[in-house]
Amino acid sequence: MTTAKNKTRQALKRIAFGIADFIFPRTCLVCGKINPKGVYRHLCGDCAKEISLCTVCRCLICGEILGGSDMPDINGCLKCMDMQIAYSQALCPTVFAGPIKRLVHAIKYSSAPYAAEDLATAAAFHPKTKDFLRNALVVPVPLYRLRRLKRGYNQAEVIARALAAKFPELNIETAHLLRRTRNTSTQTRLTREERIQNIRGAFEITPEAANIRKDAPIVIFDDVMTTAATANECAKTLRKAGFKNLRVFAIAKRL
Ligand SMILES: [Zn+2]
Ligand SMILES: [Zn+2]
Repeated sequence: MTTAKNKTRQALKRIAFGIADFIFPRTCLVCGKINPKGVYRHLCGDCAKEISLCTVCRCLICGEILGGSDMPDINGCLKCMDMQIAYSQALCPTVFAGPIKRLVHAIKYSSAPYAAEDLATAAAFHPKTKDFLRNALVVPVPLYRLRRLKRGYNQAEVIARALAAKFPELNIETAHLLRRTRNTSTQTRLTREERIQNIRGAFEITPEAANIRKDAPIVIFDDVMTTAATANECAKTLRKAGFKNLRVFAIAKRL
């Protein structure tokens, strides 16, 4: 019965998308070419080929790429070794460049949350993404209240929900266990030290956290990871509240 219902729902969805594609032909967000079919809804096949996955030797803490594909991943590197890391492991499936950068910017600055579906698709091409997120309690890195109001949504949450919806078999749940206590200035132009200082004490636990088991498999979820300072501050806040099983996932690593 449920399967029949699901099949009907999927068929209706396909028809609805078909009509929408006919009225508003899908275009590639990078090159503008009409893109009627393909794995991605908002990238053409040529632009999708430019996506780089982080599948070579990388740091399991900050996502830094360190060597070729024939070398094993490393637990900590020169860039993150002096940070007090409060989570066990991180995964950034893609490199923040080319089409991935364009999709993230479309969500953040061009009111295009629908681009999240393509980021979910790209992330799932990394061989470790699905196992990393399976049965996880995903905690999106929160935005400050006013910034969220201005944008209308939190991009990290939108991407996490797109992954959960696209891959229901992964049983991903999202929870709002963190709140941002102040409006931190943008981290983009800061050095690593400045980023750590800028974000210190910027999060607190929400009342929702009281209902969650302390050993729940939490994945702190963000759109882009640069130095891991923001994700680590989230992890520190959760750890102080007693949560023990903490990992970090960011769609893209800024190299
Ligand atoms: Zn294109
Ligand atoms: Zn590192």
